[in-house]
Amino acid sequence: MSDTYHPKWFPDFTEYAWHLPCPQCHAEPRQPCHAPYKQAHHDRVNRLLTNAGHAPDTPPQYGFMHKRRSEAGSRHRSGDIGAAPWAEERVPGTRYDTIDRGDTPPTRTRGERAVLLLDQDAVDQRGRALFGADREERTAAWPYGLEQGQVRNRQTFAELAALLEHLAVGRSTIVSWADHYGLKVAQRNPCCARWLTRSSYGACPKDRWTGRPDCWNGDLYTRGWRDHPIAWVLDGRPAAITAAPGLRHQDFAATLDTLTGQDERLAWTAGGKGWYGYRTSQVVIWRRDLLGDVDTADSIRAAVQAALAAEAATG
Ligand SMILES: [Zn+2]
Ligand SMILES: [Zn+2]
Repeated sequence: MSDTYHPKWFPDFTEYAWHLPCPQCHAEPRQPCHAPYKQAHHDRVNRLLTNAGHAPDTPPQYGFMHKRRSEAGSRHRSGDIGAAPWAEERVPGTRYDTIDRGDTPPTRTRGERAVLLLDQDAVDQRGRALFGADREERTAAWPYGLEQGQVRNRQTFAELAALLEHLAVGRSTIVSWADHYGLKVAQRNPCCARWLTRSSYGACPKDRWTGRPDCWNGDLYTRGWRDHPIAWVLDGRPAAITAAPGLRHQDFAATLDTLTGQDERLAWTAGGKGWYGYRTSQVVIWRRDLLGDVDTADSIRAAVQAALAAEAATG
C-alpha cells in the first residue's frame, strides 16, 4: 500500500480529508462519504457524455466527499504548512504532513502463550482495575455471571463448591484473556457493533427520516448473539466485543458474517464456554488491524482449569 506512495511535502487536501472522519455523514477515516446526490449527479452527467460519444468523466480518487470533510482536510493541510520549515529549508524527499494514515502497525508484541493470573487476590485486584469495585461485596464489580452476589443463593455445600470453582475459573480466565490482548473494559456500553469501526467512543448517528439510530443490524445491543456483551478497548480505541449467547454457532454465524463483512478490519470467532460457562458459546468480534489474530478464551480457560486443579491436588 505505502510502496506506491510517493512522498511529497504536502499531499492534496482531498488526501488529507480522506484520512479524517466526515463531520456530515460520520464516515470513518478512509471510508467513502455517503453522498448519494453527488454520485447520482456524476452518473447523470456521464450518461449524457457517453450518449454524446464522449469519454466519461472519472470519479474523484477518494470518492465524492462532503464539503465539510474537504474543508477539514484543507484546514489540516494549512496547519501542516504553517508548522513546517520554510520551503528553502525543507529536506527533499521528507514528508512534512501529519496525516494519521492508520497504518501504524500494532505496537504490542504478544507471547504465544498467555500468562495466567491464578492467585485469587491478584485476580480480584486485576478485576477491580478492569471493572471497578463492588463496594458492597468487597470484590471487583465482576460482569454478570461472575458476580459475587450469587454466593448467597446457594443452598447446599455441593452447590456452593461448584459455584466457587466456576467463579475462580471464570475470573482467572477473563483477566488472563484481557491481559493477553492488552484490553481494557470500555467505560460506556456501545449501541451496537458498529462502535468497533470508530476510533473512539461514539453512538450511531440518528437516521434523518426515522429519527432512529443508524445501528448495524437495527437490533438492540443485547439481543441474540449479543447476550452478556462486554466492550473492550485497546489504548482507548474500540477493539473487541465479547458475548456469551446461549445459542449454537449455526444460529448466529450468518449474522456475524454479514456484520463483519461490512468492514474489512473486522473479524469474528466463536468457541465454547469462555469465562461465562453455563452452556453458552463465546463470541468475539474484533479489529484485526489493532489486535491481529484473536482467539476465544477457551484455551486460556482450559489452562486455568488445569492449573487450579493441580494447585488443589498439591495444596
Ligand atoms: Zn460525508
Ligand atoms: Zn449503533
